[in-house]
Amino acid sequence: MKNITIKQIQEWERSFVKRKGIKQNKDDAIKIALFKLIEEVGEVAKAVNENKWSEVPAEVSDVIVFACKVANIAEDFYGKEELTNVLKRKIDYCETRTYDKKNKKFNKPKNKEFK
Ligand SMILES: [Mg+2]
Repeated sequence: MKNITIKQIQEWERSFVKRKGIKQNKDDAIKIALFKLIEEVGEVAKAVNENKWSEVPAEVSDVIVFACKVANIAEDFYGKEELTNVLKRKIDYCETRTYDKKNKKFNKPKNKEFK
């Protein structure tokens, strides 16, 4: 696979759960997804802290997969909007923000969707 999209990662995650015969109800699924996401963020931090930069891309990959799993749960169990659509709007919103070099902070233009 040359390039991979967020949508493809989400579809792979759904397929993986099915193919591996993992039975999920929404309460178990979100617990697993969030605990794993937090665990994987910790693994990124550990790799960075230990200066093991060769491990960082794989650990970031794990973070992305479990973040996509959380989004899948929002979409599949709660009927929420597709992650890719929200991501596009989020990126557009970020482009409207300006950076204050002195205080090293971005401004926060009023936005009903993103807080
Ligand atoms: Mg990992």
